[in-house]
Amino acid sequence: MNFDTTFIAQVITVIGFAVGFSIVVASGRYPRHIRNSLRAYAYGKFLLGAAFLIAGLRGDEMPELFIPLANGVGLGGLAMNYTCVRHLQNRPVRRFVPVAVGGAVALGCLMLLLAGGDLSTVRTFVSFAASAVLLLIAYEVLVRYEHRSVPHYVTGLLSAALAVVYLVRMGAGLSHAAPLGHLVDDNVERATFLLSLLGTVVGAINYILMASDEFNRELTKLAHTDGLTGALNRRRLFELGEIEFRRARRHGGELTVLILDIDRFKAINDRAGHPFGDRVIQAVTECCVGQIREEDSIGRMGGEEFAILLPDTGAEAGRMLAERLRSAIERQLAPLAAQGGVTVTCSIGGVSLTREHSQFSDLIAQSDSALYDAKNDGRNQVRFFQATARRTVATA
Ligand code: GH3
Ligand code: MG
Ligand code: MG
Repeated sequence: MNFDTTFIAQVITVIGFAVGFSIVVASGRYPRHIRNSLRAYAYGKFLLGAAFLIAGLRGDEMPELFIPLANGVGLGGLAMNYTCVRHLQNRPVRRFVPVAVGGAVALGCLMLLLAGGDLSTVRTFVSFAASAVLLLIAYEVLVRYEHRSVPHYVTGLLSAALAVVYLVRMGAGLSHAAPLGHLVDDNVERATFLLSLLGTVVGAINYILMASDEFNRELTKLAHTDGLTGALNRRRLFELGEIEFRRARRHGGELTVLILDIDRFKAINDRAGHPFGDRVIQAVTECCVGQIREEDSIGRMGGEEFAILLPDTGAEAGRMLAERLRSAIERQLAPLAAQGGVTVTCSIGGVSLTREHSQFSDLIAQSDSALYDAKNDGRNQVRFFQATARRTVATA
């Protein structure tokens, strides 16, 4: 087989447009950040396709127009691959980056041509810019991307390999003169175009796998969290509770469970309205999240009741944390409570793992029973379940 660069450029155009079109049509059904990423990827493919179309179709006419245009559009398209990876990770994206990269490359090409440079000068400059963008994509995927799996490694390594290919092309640009005119058609150029074609196909497949991975993670997150507060939902909290229970049992570790319930919440709803009640539930969640460690978990059990798992935490530390939570809620929610003309406090029941517990639900039942005592004793307090005494004890 002996394809010339013009033919390969036309194949890249067709594939780029086909891939971009398929992705943009399918993108509407995905959550916002994945949709943004899919669209950025598709627009990048349109630009890349357009660049190779201009490169493949241009003859000897107006090289000062078509050469900067093809290269600027192509590099802008490549830079969109970088923004699409950032969209996928929900990282901040500067939308002007592809325009700036494309514009700078087009302007650079124009200046080189006006200064009397030939095609090899442009080739050197554009190859350098392309390999810089490809290395940036490889860095973003291989180093900065969280939750990497096989498609991420393939995408990152592919970008790095293409960056090397463009560096070789840059070397060729430095060592061979090429007059202005048709596309260069030497071995390096053919290999670069063929590998770009391969990169377009393999890269598209792996990018779709990356987007699908992200979508699955989003679904899992939705299945695990409570919509109002962002805390874990009851089912996930029980799953984690079982895991922590088994881990603590196996390694002889400690585990404390707290159940927290907002006091007289019905009165808050009645006096300040249901939407205000929702704000209180959210603010209590935020306050708790601010007090616990990263390895602790908080879940909404229902209504205005939360369960908190404290791994590697014994009774004494658990009591101290519960007391800190109680007083933080009383203090931090005072300004919001004042807005609604209500008082916001909470009662907390807790229990720490002992040899007598045979399953996680024992801990939930006993902290619930301790909570019941805290409510009966006047609310806005912490009680811990004491297995031996079969009654709960106050902390303060
Ligand atoms: P106690 O001090 O004994 O806990 O009294 P309480 O009024 O907080 O207890 P109760 O369980 O009787 O009331 C809970 C109320 O929470 C009843 C229900 O209408 C309200 N509620 C449940 N879910 C939500 C919610 O998502 N948003 C709001 N605003 N209210 C809710
Ligand atoms: Mg309550
Ligand atoms: Mg309740």
